[in-house]
Amino acid sequence: MLSVVFNMNRIYLDNNATTVLDPRVKQSMEPFWLQEYGNPNSLHRYGTETHPEMSVALDRLYKGIGASDEDDVIINGCATEGNNTVLKGVWNDHIRHGEKSRIVSSQIEHPSVARTLDWLEAQGVEVVRLAPNDDGIITEEILADGFDENKTALVSIMWANNETGLINPVKDLAQFCRGRGVLFHTDAVQAVGKVPVDLQDLPVDFLTFSAHKFHGPKGAGGLFLRKGINLTPLLHGGEQMGGRRAGTVNVPFVVGMGLAMELAVDALEYETHEVRRRRDRLEDAIASIPDTLIFGKREHRTPNTILASFKGIEGEAFLWDLDKRGVAASTGSACSSESLEADATLQAMMSDADLTHTAVRFSLSRFTTDEEIDAAILAIHAAVDRLRSISSTY
Ligand code: PMP
Repeated sequence: MLSVVFNMNRIYLDNNATTVLDPRVKQSMEPFWLQEYGNPNSLHRYGTETHPEMSVALDRLYKGIGASDEDDVIINGCATEGNNTVLKGVWNDHIRHGEKSRIVSSQIEHPSVARTLDWLEAQGVEVVRLAPNDDGIITEEILADGFDENKTALVSIMWANNETGLINPVKDLAQFCRGRGVLFHTDAVQAVGKVPVDLQDLPVDFLTFSAHKFHGPKGAGGLFLRKGINLTPLLHGGEQMGGRRAGTVNVPFVVGMGLAMELAVDALEYETHEVRRRRDRLEDAIASIPDTLIFGKREHRTPNTILASFKGIEGEAFLWDLDKRGVAASTGSACSSESLEADATLQAMMSDADLTHTAVRFSLSRFTTDEEIDAAILAIHAAVDRLRSISSTY
């Protein structure tokens, strides 16, 4: 049985870290390397011939998140850049000169928010990091508790968590802030392509996304700004993006990101039903292993994510064993050097369960097949059996 698993092609279950480029996206980018390689700001045809496809791509991005024509979607290099732009921009425009003093966020944010907040705190910003409830979620009640609208310049709460897949009630949080005249930002990197994102329906002021999490290219992202809201740019220079983000636009990546967004939104039905069905099947098989903990209620999570911990098994040893069996999973965020144990949500949940081992994340995509799930289940069972048989703590 095992040798079958060993001989299979590798199985990628780390889609919250990054996703494979959709082949249609790759194809859409092709003309812009060797033929239409002009700078869109140039006045000659090399430049102007990029405009129609750029405009289609922008339309796709606006439509994909439900932005209106008056809103702005600024194309940038990654969601880390988008998050930095919002937090540092709000600091510069609303805090630095004494108008307000506070940014409210959470303990479960991605490092691109968390570390930026650390830096801002060192500049004198009062940073409040809300702890999630027992379900790992930041509710409106948690936000309301101790909220001071006179001091707060911005609330920044992620839409879906990259480790657990847990979804925060962004609509309630955004409405709460809008009702009090406080700006609201959400890091929607793990939400786009997994749950509907419709900004017509959500009073969000800033939203960040990243193409490589929805089968677009790495190194392309977007920042939504609600109409009429200005922020000091992070990058000064040329007049690209209306002066809001200087730097020559990466045409192939923008074209690819636009198509990737459209395809991801088209595939939402599939994500909600088929990806979820495969995820649930994998999750049921993992949960059937004795002394295993799955983090967060299924109904509160994105359809593709499972975070599990196996008593007596150290996360990295488990990943290494799984990798040898051809299955790629993850412990902690690929962008973070910290282990999952450092995450406040998980720490709270783990101590509740009285378990002392690291967690492993399995994240699927629309390209994950049923056959891959079958093989992954065998590999996970085999890895757990082997590691527990040699564990001194199990
Ligand atoms: N926020 C979240 C929730 C993420 O998962 C990631 C990527 N791991 C980022 C932000 C950063 O995205 P990027 O790689 O585009 O900088």
